[in-house]
Amino acid sequence: MPTKKRIHQLTVGQFEAAFPDEDACCAYLVAHRWPEGVTCPRCGATNPHALGNWHWQCYQCAPQTSYRFSHIAGTIFENTNKPLRDWFRVIHLMLASKKGMSALQIMRYMGFGSYKTAWYMCHRVRAALIEHPEKLAGIVEVDETFVGGKTRNRHKDRRGDRGGTGPNKPGGIGSGKTPVVGAVQRKGNVVARVIATVSTELLTGFVKEAVSHKVSLICTDQWSGYKRLDVEGYPHEVIHHNNGQYVNGVVHTNTIEGFWSIFKRGVVGSYHKVSRKYLPLYVAEFQFRYNNRANEDIFGTAISGC
Ligand SMILES: [Zn+2]
Repeated sequence: MPTKKRIHQLTVGQFEAAFPDEDACCAYLVAHRWPEGVTCPRCGATNPHALGNWHWQCYQCAPQTSYRFSHIAGTIFENTNKPLRDWFRVIHLMLASKKGMSALQIMRYMGFGSYKTAWYMCHRVRAALIEHPEKLAGIVEVDETFVGGKTRNRHKDRRGDRGGTGPNKPGGIGSGKTPVVGAVQRKGNVVARVIATVSTELLTGFVKEAVSHKVSLICTDQWSGYKRLDVEGYPHEVIHHNNGQYVNGVVHTNTIEGFWSIFKRGVVGSYHKVSRKYLPLYVAEFQFRYNNRANEDIFGTAISGC
């Protein structure tokens, strides 16, 4: 029996057919940001007066003078001189590649004259992809990884980067690496976040925010920073990687490690150098792509967040 093919990505042909010109992009944006009809971005009035050419006028928040706004008012597309069609192409490219695309690749592909423009656009898009999924439940795997740092540390066992075994030792700081913690629900969503250190306090705080207390099982490795999960009453099982153990029945962290593998190949392979300051944006980008991996309308979902 043939399985239903998952199309969660527009092909080039589909993109061209859907967005033949700027007007088509404007109409698509309006339909996605205002599915119930155009509302004033300033006061929320539902009856702005249409002026044509993708502009409206609101008399409710400015009865005397009236307030004019366009389809891109209050979106990431505001304050740029790039047509919406360029933005849409950039978003399409960023979503189409599993590992992501660097601003340099985007600049070359789009034929932009300026790297700064490409860089700015990519970061605005990443900011729009930030999502807040529901708390994870079922079987959840929690783990951390480290990004960046000196090349000579790259082959070092990452556990060595946790900064010792004390609960408040800074992880990754000495090596210049930035810790990222993540939790993934099996067959579900991932939630990942840049953290200052891999301390018990921060890891427990992350789990409390990302994972439901009704979770059936949390799997971690033996890192002492996860010990407080037992005290907090979570059903918690540990896989002892240090003993060469990787799977024990349902207890493993292979799913989250799979996510880290995509993330790190992307960050190292496509972006080469990611500063700590912007790392949260890259994390958001990879999280969005992962959580929408089966979403047939990933492009529309992305546009709705812009
Ligand atoms: Zn208004």
